[in-house]
Amino acid sequence: MFKALVVEKDDSGYRTSLQFIDEAQLPEGDVAIQVSWSTLNYKDGLAITGKGPVVRKFPLTPGIDMAGTVIESSHSRWKEGDKVLLNGWGVGESHSGCLAQKARVKGDWLVPLPDKFSERQAMSIGTAGYTAMLCVMALEKHGIKPTDGEILVTGANGGVGSIAIILLKKMGYTVIASTGRLEEGAHLKSLGAAGIIDRKELSEPGRPLGKERWSGVVDSVGSTTLANACSTTKYGGAIAACGLAGGADLPVTVMPFILRGITLYGIDSVMAPLERRIEAWKRLAELLDISKLESNTTEVSLEEAIAVSAKLLEGKVRGRVVVDVNR
Ligand code: NDP
Repeated sequence: MFKALVVEKDDSGYRTSLQFIDEAQLPEGDVAIQVSWSTLNYKDGLAITGKGPVVRKFPLTPGIDMAGTVIESSHSRWKEGDKVLLNGWGVGESHSGCLAQKARVKGDWLVPLPDKFSERQAMSIGTAGYTAMLCVMALEKHGIKPTDGEILVTGANGGVGSIAIILLKKMGYTVIASTGRLEEGAHLKSLGAAGIIDRKELSEPGRPLGKERWSGVVDSVGSTTLANACSTTKYGGAIAACGLAGGADLPVTVMPFILRGITLYGIDSVMAPLERRIEAWKRLAELLDISKLESNTTEVSLEEAIAVSAKLLEGKVRGRVVVDVNR
């Protein structure tokens, strides 16, 4: 028996609780893992609270991210004792997930834990940080250089936003952080933001073309914020869009695309191919300053993760949350 969060949905409603479950209840897979750390992403918040249709079968253990040790494997790439991490692939959505002391998954989904990171540190990056890296890689591949001007990061105090700031600063870019929590300005500057703007400046409907300001954008908010980011991106610039914390719509015109030649990159972490994941984790290991990661992280137990999920969705959690599944 081991501890796991379990999401259930039946006639009495949708609920998540801490339970002791049996190994026989683990899903199919060719690798079993002793999980040491997991984390809370926005999507985990939706799964735990039921505020979004993330969980597709019940009962199910939520949790899209884990770091741990292989305890059983019939997969050619993995053997007992290997340190691994997992992000996405539908785990915690349609395949029982990582907010548990044990998990069973497909070996094809696993990435080796980079030497630079402890299991806890890898989870203080998690899907949010790995997605931030994918966004930054898209801007870099577009050819945006630090000398091209300011990069806008929206949802700056969130997981994706905060890690995007650390990465971009390390790469020499000038980062402007957009946030609804101006009181966290000093923290955002300590991560590497050169300037802070109130997210209200971007969340009201704007003109089809605004004053050109950004050479590039990392957006985790969507909706009017993303539309305004498009209309104020400089000629030839690019936006990496990965999130919907402010809404899933996109009220934009074609003007920024056809008159300024801007590019909108869609970023998906869940089904990203293995090579891109390995590249992203290699870059994270090269670029991330561990002390900044730590100041951006809070720690909770498996049981506490249930209450913290609601706060995360309300935008009241700063940075990243790691979950000690053994506490
Ligand atoms: P967090 O909850 O950690 O951060 C979201 C941040 O967005 C908040 O901290 C807040 O920042 C801002 N925010 C919250 N509500 C609103 C609102 N109504 N309007 C404007 N801004 C708001 O989430 P994550 O960083 O983990 O994820 C961010 C988004 O990216 C989510 O939508 C998530 O689903 C998506 N995502 C997508 C992935 C992909 O593969 N495409 C992978 C990972 C995440 P502040 O207080 O600074 O304003």
